Amino acid sequence: NKKLTHSLITSNAETKVLLHIYIYFYDCNRLEGKVALITGAASGIGEETVRLFAEHGAVIVAADIQDEEGEKVAASIGSERVSYHHCDVRDENQVEETINFTLEKHGRIDILFSNAGIIGSLSGILDLDLNEFDNTMATNVRGVAATIKHSARAMVAKGIRGSIICTTSVAATVGGTGPHGYTTSKHALTGLVKSACGELGAYGIRVNSISPFGVATPLACRAFNFEPEQVEANSCSQANLKGVVLKARHVAEAALFLASDEAVYISGHNLMVDGGFSVVNRSYSFTPVDV
Ligand code: NAD
Repeated sequence: NKKLTHSLITSNAETKVLLHIYIYFYDCNRLEGKVALITGAASGIGEETVRLFAEHGAVIVAADIQDEEGEKVAASIGSERVSYHHCDVRDENQVEETINFTLEKHGRIDILFSNAGIIGSLSGILDLDLNEFDNTMATNVRGVAATIKHSARAMVAKGIRGSIICTTSVAATVGGTGPHGYTTSKHALTGLVKSACGELGAYGIRVNSISPFGVATPLACRAFNFEPEQVEANSCSQANLKGVVLKARHVAEAALFLASDEAVYISGHNLMVDGGFSVVNRSYSFTPVDV
């Protein structure tokens, strides 16, 4: 499409219209020809990112442990674009096998969106369940490390200047915004992103993270025992930026940017999708009370 419209643009008569068509196609195909692996793809932010990446021309391996939901997501988009693959990120063998599946099916991997995560229960430090703490770290840190290791190996072996994106959280920079294990894991993850960025830059591979504020996904609903509307009402009341309800789609848009060639020189960055929440101390707010 791009080539065709490009050549047509050279004829003067309809230049303006064709330019608009060209821009339209360009804007809809920001990941044309790219292969993406997305973990935590059966639900919430991961599912929304699968849909958005597919809209932008990527082919995707959607990985998760919720097989039925994952298969449904893939089927709703179409098997020529998305294939579901079972992968528990806590098990390095499954991660390696998922990368191999991606390589056998598509021959390459350009984008890793390492997004699978759990939040754990809201118990205090005095009652901390260390088995649960370990499981949160195994999923949110060790699991992400395994996905970075094996996808980066595949990129390096094929000389692909890929993009690796991890989902952290506002809990990666601000204490008191999630359970202790979760906050610890997300802080650790920002360290892993910086560390991997330092090594993989030599191969032209970018490594970034995205830190969302509260989104009404099953993870957030389960954590607070809330309905989605209650999660959104809660987030809106705590938010710095008023008048917008944060949706999974907004987080997916940030992942699309970091995955695309528009972010070609961005690496080691933690992109906050939090409306300024993490940089404002509201106890000294100068906002007029009636706003
Ligand atoms: P979600 O529960 O809708 O999705 C998480 C997905 O990860 C689920 O499909 C789940 O099955 C999968 N998963 C869990 N453990 C896994 C494992 N061991 N291996 C493979 N897949 C596994 O929740 P979400 O909100 O979309 O979460 C996605 C990411 O966003 C997480 O890393 C989470 O910490 C982060 N996040 C969420 C919010 C929020 O408010 N929802 C805010 C900041 C960050």
